[in-house]
Amino acid sequence: MTLAAKWPSRQGTKDMQSGALDFRNRSAILDGLDGASFDLLVIGGGVTGAGIARDAAMRGLSVALVEARDFASGTSSRSSKMIHGGLRYMAQGDLGLVQEAASERKAVEAIAPHLTKMTPFVIPAKNAAAIAKLRTGLWAFEKLGGVPKGRQHEVWSRKDVEANEPAIDASDLTGAVVYPEYLTEDAKLTLANVRAAVAFGAVAISYAPVAEVICEHGKAVGVILDDALGDTSRARISAKVIVNAAGPWVDRLRGLEEAGAKPRLMLSKGVHLVVDQARLPVSRTIIMGARDKRSVFAVPKGRFTYIGTTDTFYPQDHVWPHIDRDDIDYLVEATNKRFGVAPLGDADIVAAWSGVRPLVGQEGKSASEISRKDEVWTGPAGILAIAGGKLTAYRRMAERVVDTVEELMGRKPTPSRTATMPLPAGDLDVEAVTSALAATMPRVEAERLVALYGAEAHLAAGGPEAEARYAVTVEGALQLEDVWVRRSNRAWFDDKGGEAALPLLAKEMATLLTWSPSQTEAQIKACLDIRADSLSALKTTFVSS
Ligand code: FAD
Repeated sequence: MTLAAKWPSRQGTKDMQSGALDFRNRSAILDGLDGASFDLLVIGGGVTGAGIARDAAMRGLSVALVEARDFASGTSSRSSKMIHGGLRYMAQGDLGLVQEAASERKAVEAIAPHLTKMTPFVIPAKNAAAIAKLRTGLWAFEKLGGVPKGRQHEVWSRKDVEANEPAIDASDLTGAVVYPEYLTEDAKLTLANVRAAVAFGAVAISYAPVAEVICEHGKAVGVILDDALGDTSRARISAKVIVNAAGPWVDRLRGLEEAGAKPRLMLSKGVHLVVDQARLPVSRTIIMGARDKRSVFAVPKGRFTYIGTTDTFYPQDHVWPHIDRDDIDYLVEATNKRFGVAPLGDADIVAAWSGVRPLVGQEGKSASEISRKDEVWTGPAGILAIAGGKLTAYRRMAERVVDTVEELMGRKPTPSRTATMPLPAGDLDVEAVTSALAATMPRVEAERLVALYGAEAHLAAGGPEAEARYAVTVEGALQLEDVWVRRSNRAWFDDKGGEAALPLLAKEMATLLTWSPSQTEAQIKACLDIRADSLSALKTTFVSS
């Protein structure tokens, strides 16, 4: 059966305009998917898969995007949340990646200005030679990346460091080099891409893992989807081309295509810690040297500062990678060495998160030495797999994959239109929307809402209940964790990990999703368990109130 016959209205004409995700009609979507066929099936709703689905749908392909858990529940909500200009690749001599990262930064800023917040990065320097070396690198980087004059680096004296970032212990410094980078909201960038794909006619579904790959005459022609939310119902989908964008789970999916496929990924864990701004008051991102000479960051974010990240091999593909004592010590030690504030201890850590980078393995290299370049390869049954890469370059990665998809379909090549068309909620003047909201609430809250919800911030204003309502009816949330971690950011950037908000979010979701009291309790407990696990390596005992 063709898609047109099976899926006449996709997800409703209203949604074709706004790309609103509302999965309260989830079983109808699953029923509709069963037996449907598409030009392209994308497995994995992280930023890679969502970007591919958006690009393909915008080029007029019929697209299904299937996600095993929540959109962005894998690596795409665990990053350092930076849209890098690519300075690091410069040091590794990868000039192609520098150019791509710098131009992609501009593209994301154009299509979602609320998801690209310029934040200066401060690199402390111990002597004039270090400053000169940094400047040489930055001049080349600015030239290569086409950085405009007003955004080029500047040099601070030690006095400037003391005046501008007084928390830094500048006693061993000659000064610092300061240059602009961008921060984003990784999960929201992913969700915006899913919404955009749906706005252009794609069908997207979460909590629907691919359980089997269907092959005919040695070629993959479709998949069987499970329903992860209880039902035993299964859906069979066919597609002309299948893309495996399952991030850290790419190898697992490859195993469904070819039993015994040799693993290609090497997973590397990265941990972040969150402390109150009052304990680590920074107004720019400060770069610090860790014990193994890697750079780690202290990043200001509203009422909090986050510190990250580690980079160590982690062979398991856990959804919540374990945060070890050594991860915490590594980050706290680097922070206490660079700052003159009272040393941070376990009691200062208010939240923590971890994730794994799906890197393409390179024998003999340490985790931090492995290239971040993406790779695409074709499996024996014809499934295109994509891994490696960065959130920063997701749009270009998607463009390349969809070019290949068109080629495989024997379709006339069409240009990608994703660099200029605003993402949903991305057509706004950030300052104007923030100021308008700030007339009715504290500015820091207005800034938080605009960073998360862009032009639609007013729809999510009004406390946790309003955010839960928006999350369910516009952003496709189905579990409390979806709202708490990925849509409202409260798990990591709210007092006590948003414990007080949890019952309010849950109550609203219970009404919208018809949860029983025991189901609602179980949802809250699941979130508190995630929080307790993430903080289990702390020496102070974590007690939920
Ligand atoms: P994921 O986000 O993991 O998505 C894969 C999805 O596939 C998951 O949602 C998963 O549930 C789904 N899936 C798995 N199996 C199945 C199945 N059987 N059926 C259906 N779906 C399935 N990049 C930057 O540009 N800037 C940064 O600052 C940055 N910092 C980072 C810091 C850390 C600690 C880490 C770990 C990464 C960082 N990155 C950064 C890299 C960036 O986060 C990743 O490159 C990117 O998020 C990978 O996205 P993805 O879509 O490929 O994978």
